Amino acid sequence: MDKDGIRKLAEDPRFISGIYNYCDRWCERCVFTSRCMNYALSEQEFDSPESRDIRNQAFWDKLGGMLSATLDMAREKAKEMGIDLDAIDTAEIAQQTERIHEMAKEQPHSRAAMKYVGMVDDWFETNRWLLEAKCDELESLAQADIPGTSPDDDAVRIHDCIEVVRWYHHQIYVKLCRAASGTICDEFEDLECIQKDADGSAKVAIIGIERSAAAWAALLSHLPDLERSIFHVLATLKHLLKQVDASFPNARSFLRPGFDKTDDFE
Ligand code: SF4
Repeated sequence: MDKDGIRKLAEDPRFISGIYNYCDRWCERCVFTSRCMNYALSEQEFDSPESRDIRNQAFWDKLGGMLSATLDMAREKAKEMGIDLDAIDTAEIAQQTERIHEMAKEQPHSRAAMKYVGMVDDWFETNRWLLEAKCDELESLAQADIPGTSPDDDAVRIHDCIEVVRWYHHQIYVKLCRAASGTICDEFEDLECIQKDADGSAKVAIIGIERSAAAWAALLSHLPDLERSIFHVLATLKHLLKQVDASFPNARSFLRPGFDKTDDFE
């Protein structure tokens, strides 16, 4: 799609402006797909299995086309504002951005989130055989069709909890780094930053942490043999949440377009 196509799409009144900036990117589970321009754009552009396959050239061609159209629009906007993009020292900005990113990664909450990433990866690696054994057990129970048991439901619940944990475990770290960058870059006078964006990113991380904690807690009842390790993970998440709440006290009151308040964004 070229820049005119993107502009035309953006004019569609059904879209909630900026809704995709503070979502968890889990489109399959999102109730706002019909109101999200990002989703509509993806559906239109990546409309075949080939264009969705990262190993296929069609995917990269589509992505390249979108980036090029976006860059064209950015150039036009800059021109309207009297800014010459070519005159900007991109090397210096890249250096500053890298510096901010490095600082963001070193914040206690970012480090704690990275620790959680490693912990989750280790947990799945260590307990893979136990999870497989649990699946086999539920399958046998289902075949036995014992009255009063619901092995299929249990299997679905376990699968869902694992999906939730897997979906958020990296995202929490990424969102916290972004939130930290937003706060840190205030120190650099020549970079324009909006503190609210940091709160929005932190809120997405908080939601990810809370949903992950709920998923781990639900797993507890299905995997009593792993109680000790799950308690350990839950304690880590609880500590992380405390750190995030302390670092971003306004995050919870941040209103995400669409998700927290639809009326204002219609
Ligand atoms: S708002 Fe919903 S549909 Fe749009 S990108 Fe986010 S998760 Fe996907």
